[in-house]
Amino acid sequence: MNNPALQLEVPQLADRETLLATVATSLETANRTGELVAIISVKVNRLKAISIEYGYAESDELIEMFLERLHDCLRDKDTLARIGNDEFAILLPDLKNPAQPLMAISKIQRTCLEPAEIGGKSIQMSLVFGLSIGPDDADRPEALLRCADLALQAAEVNGLESARYVACTKTTAPAPMQLETDLRTAIYDGALQSVYQPIVDVETGEIAGVELLSRWPRPDFGDVSPLEFIGAAERSGLIMPLTLWSLNNGLRECSDWQIKLPSLPVSINFSPLVLVDRHIPEVVLSAIKLWGADVLGLLTVEVTETAIMADPQACTEILNQLHSYGVKIAIDDFGTGYSSLAYLKQLPVDILKIDQSFVTNMINNPADRRIVQTIIDLAHNFDLTVVAEGVEDEETLDTLMLMVCQRAQGFHVARPMPASELACWFEASPWEQIRG
Ligand code: C2E
Ligand code: MG
Ligand code: MG
Repeated sequence: MNNPALQLEVPQLADRETLLATVATSLETANRTGELVAIISVKVNRLKAISIEYGYAESDELIEMFLERLHDCLRDKDTLARIGNDEFAILLPDLKNPAQPLMAISKIQRTCLEPAEIGGKSIQMSLVFGLSIGPDDADRPEALLRCADLALQAAEVNGLESARYVACTKTTAPAPMQLETDLRTAIYDGALQSVYQPIVDVETGEIAGVELLSRWPRPDFGDVSPLEFIGAAERSGLIMPLTLWSLNNGLRECSDWQIKLPSLPVSINFSPLVLVDRHIPEVVLSAIKLWGADVLGLLTVEVTETAIMADPQACTEILNQLHSYGVKIAIDDFGTGYSSLAYLKQLPVDILKIDQSFVTNMINNPADRRIVQTIIDLAHNFDLTVVAEGVEDEETLDTLMLMVCQRAQGFHVARPMPASELACWFEASPWEQIRG
């Protein structure tokens, strides 16, 4: 650090040696506690070009502003260091799971997206990130920092906003990065598809809504599982564009089918990384406005317990705001996270979705059935609508009715299908459509 002004602005800014010493201590602690340590390398793109275009004083001011914003995204125990002129490293110690550093990257990306107003000029900053997680990727400080740098390099080579280190990142364009590069193209070319899976009312047989699930027919590879490509989108800074695409495509198709299928609610999955973005409620509201008043009150956002537990306060604010716009909130895969039930009384939750792992086998497994019954009772006690996921046969559906579960979703009701098939399915299906 050779600019004293920067040291004054951001007192926690460390140099490389201090960073490595802190990483060493954090890795030692992690070895004892079993927790994780992440290093995020971050580079300010085109800093040289910005200096030439706007002036050196302006580019210094831009960096100061960047550091302030960065600092606002970090916890007290995180360490921020300057590694090069345009490169920084962030140490995140004491992590419980690998999603946490991804959320930090997402938060920083969004915070730095707003143009910086400097000397009457508006300067847009662009960042690229590399992530390594110890002790899995490396158990020595220098090696862990190098892994983060390699990941950053791989992100740059592949035209991504961020990349997580993978063992073969050492080569310039390794296979896992190719997946992410292709996904980027697919999102921006509109090559992803949305399919919809009906949700029915167990007692009345009425169709209570549909859940949007994304599909990626990857040329030469066939369909990629969402579990794989959602993960890739989260690692590479693509989850936000993917979510916005799904949201708009879902609401567009929803506004189309309002003619034939009035008042059909649609649920959309939100990754935990999307919920760290304080702009998301406005984005959702403008999408609702764009696709017309018809879709107002029909949107449900599905979030997981992991998303809530990662940053309960930020998540509460965002979910409250979405709820005030008439968006319903569902907790997806309920029962699989590290639940603190306390959030159920604080958050504007409307729906609990029982994870399919408990439902699919509940006829043969009494323990699963007891878990399902406990969640149903919990939902009733909190006045929430409860949906069982993964209903694969009639016996399970009948049992759910006896257990007073309100809604069901699963292959027994219908498999996910494109919007074009939905109207036909509705007409032919034994399930009754809710009339608006
Ligand atoms: P989810 O939100 O819990 O969605 C339900 C998953 O269970 C879907 O898998 C669905 O096809 C599958 N499923 C439905 N009924 C049955 C059944 O009776 N038996 C079994 N075995 N499976 C059933 P899919 O489409 O592969 O999606 C997997 C996960 O990927 C979703 O779980 C969701 O978490 C995520 N996902 C899918 N699309 C998106 C998206 O657009 N954005 C985000 N953030 N996540 C998505
Ligand atoms: Mg879901
Ligand atoms: Mg689920």
